[in-house]
Amino acid sequence: MTEQLEFIPAAKPIIGDEERAAVDAVLVSGMLAQGAEVAAFETEFSAHLVDGRHAVAVNSGTAGLHLGLLAAGVGPGDEVIVPSFTFAATANSVALTGATPVFADIEPDYFALDPASVASVITERTVGIMPVHLYGHPADVVALGDLASQRGLQLFEDAAQAHGATKAGVPVGAFGSFAMFSLYPTKNMTSGEGGIVTTGSDEVARRLRLLRNQGMEKQYENEIVGFNARMTNLHAAIGRVQLTKIDGWTQQRRDNAAFFDAELQGVVTPPVAADATHVYHQYTIRVQDDRDGLAKALRDEYAIGSGVYYPIPNHRLPSFQRTEDLPETERAAAEVLSLPVHPSLSRSDLERIVSAVNALAKAGS
Ligand SMILES: *Cc1c(COP(=O)(O)O)cnc(C)c1O
Repeated sequence: MTEQLEFIPAAKPIIGDEERAAVDAVLVSGMLAQGAEVAAFETEFSAHLVDGRHAVAVNSGTAGLHLGLLAAGVGPGDEVIVPSFTFAATANSVALTGATPVFADIEPDYFALDPASVASVITERTVGIMPVHLYGHPADVVALGDLASQRGLQLFEDAAQAHGATKAGVPVGAFGSFAMFSLYPTKNMTSGEGGIVTTGSDEVARRLRLLRNQGMEKQYENEIVGFNARMTNLHAAIGRVQLTKIDGWTQQRRDNAAFFDAELQGVVTPPVAADATHVYHQYTIRVQDDRDGLAKALRDEYAIGSGVYYPIPNHRLPSFQRTEDLPETERAAAEVLSLPVHPSLSRSDLERIVSAVNALAKAGS
């Protein structure tokens, strides 16, 4: 049966003729490194996705978090509160500044930082809170922003997975002192590799531009010690084209998710907060009984890819080895399964996914 079924991958970057033509035009121009394409991409990204805040392009999302934290003044002796239930780049970027990532628990509905858990781990050394808009659903940046301002802390957003999501009518990326969007190939839009840092602060934006380019604004007049974290014109050219397509792709992801919401049975489907819009970077269900068995059967019996994001909470990784007790984080790590929801799925793919999950969930219950 599997033989005649075409495999449905968990994620699929979409690169069209327009992206290829845009890269070719840059190659023909000979202006490969950071230049006019990058500047245009920053302006267009900002206008399209973050209400005209400053946007600074860098060569990866991780570099964006790292430079954003440095530009916001985070360093040795400081603590930044982060979720443990996320990709390791979130806590890594804090650790790379010399500050300490402090892990708080998540709330169970949207898999994002729980304000009560965050409040319980604030110390004298805490300088910031960095929620992740995991799977494309906004974290409660309204409550976390209130908590941050009451306690004199900064809010930083890891928006790697949430291009275009909104909370209380405001786009994610417009809440924190800075926010980062990743442009890795499996994200909702890509530049190959890359990241965009957004900020409402002229000062933070200027520091970001210095930090990404050896501390220089004027050539050979280095003001501070910096990195080479520049985006290339080649990558920016891809990103500019993808920006013209992101709204249609997001709508397709939402339509796919609505189909799953209506049709899936016997599993816990992902809720959306009343004041939020979800961009479904992932469509993540909870499987209380034998999640890994279900994932294996989807692949082996039905030729359907899926993903577990993330199986090991960051605080227990060999790189951190902490002993915090984070029960909702542990439960999520054991139960989550992300089904394909990307815009390339056909109607028959969606139907195949639904009938496979429903059959397996029924058999397992
Ligand atoms: C992808 C991702 C990052 C890192 O982005 P890169 O572009 O891969 O460096 C950081 N945080 C989260 C939550 C991510 O999903």
